[in-house]
Amino acid sequence: MPDPFDFLIVGGGSAGCVVARVLADRGWRIGLIEPGPDQPASKVPADYLRAFRSAEDWDFETEPQPALAGRRIRQPRGRGLGGSTRINAMIWYPPRDVDLRRLARHGGTHWSAADLRASLTEVTTWVSPESPRWLSEASSRFLKVARPAIEPPHAYHRMSDRSGRRTAAELLTGCDRIRRITGSVDRVLFAEGTESPGLAPAGAERSTRATGVWLRPDALDSPHVVSANRGVILCSGSLGSPCILIRSGIGPRDVLQTCGIRPRLLLEAVGRNLIDHLIMPCIFELPESARFAPRPTPRDLARWQVSGSGPLSSNLAEVGAIYPLVVDDNPKIRRPRQTDTVGQTAETAIQVHVTPTHYLLHPDSRAPAAMTIGVNLCQPRSRGRVWPVSVDSTAAPSIDPGYLTSPEDLTELVAAVGVARELASSPPLASWVCGESLPGVRRDSTAATERAIRRYAQTLYHPVGTCRMSALGDGVVDPDCRVKGTHNLWVIDAAVLGDIPSVNPNATIMMLAHLAATRLAV
Ligand SMILES: Cc1cc2nc3c(=O)[nH]c(=O)nc-3n(C[C@H](O)[C@H](O)[C@H](O)COP(=O)(O)OP(=O)(O)OC[C@H]3O[C@@H](n4cnc5c(N)ncnc54)[C@H](O)[C@@H]3O)c2cc1C
Repeated sequence: MPDPFDFLIVGGGSAGCVVARVLADRGWRIGLIEPGPDQPASKVPADYLRAFRSAEDWDFETEPQPALAGRRIRQPRGRGLGGSTRINAMIWYPPRDVDLRRLARHGGTHWSAADLRASLTEVTTWVSPESPRWLSEASSRFLKVARPAIEPPHAYHRMSDRSGRRTAAELLTGCDRIRRITGSVDRVLFAEGTESPGLAPAGAERSTRATGVWLRPDALDSPHVVSANRGVILCSGSLGSPCILIRSGIGPRDVLQTCGIRPRLLLEAVGRNLIDHLIMPCIFELPESARFAPRPTPRDLARWQVSGSGPLSSNLAEVGAIYPLVVDDNPKIRRPRQTDTVGQTAETAIQVHVTPTHYLLHPDSRAPAAMTIGVNLCQPRSRGRVWPVSVDSTAAPSIDPGYLTSPEDLTELVAAVGVARELASSPPLASWVCGESLPGVRRDSTAATERAIRRYAQTLYHPVGTCRMSALGDGVVDPDCRVKGTHNLWVIDAAVLGDIPSVNPNATIMMLAHLAATRLAV
């Protein structure tokens, strides 16, 4: 008895839930494959930090990063229905015009920025992002800082409602054409059958028509093979989708060889072009009386329970802004203008995020009262790579984001720290801030600031780009997200973004997923 599915969607995260909803709304029967729990353990916004290293987190880490003092950087990724929206900071930042224009160039003649805008409108209606119900004093003061900005300080919209976090899984409510399959996909199966990688007869023509997937044997409540008559859509995220492709024999020759996987289709771009936002936390001391919510009071609890507001509603990243970065004044660091993968001149800009606590990796309640002004480059130049270490799908992938491998990124991040310092010394923050603890007043030279960045900069959790879209010959997917050289196989998630969005990427990913699924549905 064949599985009753038209499409299999591998991964029920930000993109996977949108794709499932669009296809189901148009009458297709969907098998949505996702390991992990259905509901997030907590809806309290800042509790995402507690989800790290739990069953809701794939809990990856990078290879040692030479430019970050050899540190391995933790890479949490959401696991369970909703994907990374279960454990993210909930910020809903719509793509800016510059992002839409850049993305539309990747679409070639297939679709336009106007099509993207139409999809954005639709997913925004589904998500109904709301503005924060409460702001900390650090955030309120930051909103009043006057400084020329590309996007002035503003409160971030969020995927939330009165009861707290909303995940992408809520888009599936009432969709009765979607069947949830609990499991983790090992690899895609193709028309010739279910042979293990490397076991097909030598010289045999290998099919590129996807027919189903092979589930990891640890998914005990599911059959190991699931098929679909119209194809397979990988929505496993920028670290998951390229690894599934490679385990299926589609990828770069060197990785396939190392893993002992017989090539089905050589696609050198799979797993390359990994881009992430690297954030430098600048921590400023505050008077003890300004310490943020040390312990929720009965009043805080009541406000949270009754109206979803008060300090417990904080996502610890309530407000932010985008500033231009001027580094070309210094002849020592003058360099050619950066161009992105579609040849467009990229803007040199930074995003600034305000956290009302001392925050390196977690809010530190034992540290002096503080606020953190985090700065990241909107469009870093550094590129890295992700690849599976073996054919064994239970092994964590090797992740090398190549942080700061482009020297200009470090130069610009030093300038960005300068912006954070200027913001902290502008009214109305200046009269409130009593000192700088990171990088620290004694680390104000360029060399010392660089050392601090190497030692303390962190991921902002935005890896993208590892199955990049291109209308031309290179790249992994075409503008309809179909894996080049294959039939009935698509990647639709953060992996297809050839350039990193200049802001928090979730809204962009859900928008693109909507557009791709709409085109696929007809
Ligand atoms: C801690 C954190 C904070 C963040 N904060 C923000 C924010 O505030 N705003 C913002 O815009 N962005 C934020 N992001 C980034 C944003 O959440 C992600 O970019 C986005 O959710 C990625 O969407 P996706 O669909 O590509 O992947 P995901 O949402 O990660 O979905 C991938 C899904 O595939 C599943 N999967 C993986 N491998 C397999 C397999 N082999 N078989 C079956 N299923 C599989 C996973 O379990 C997961 O559910 C944050 C991310 C993190 C981790």
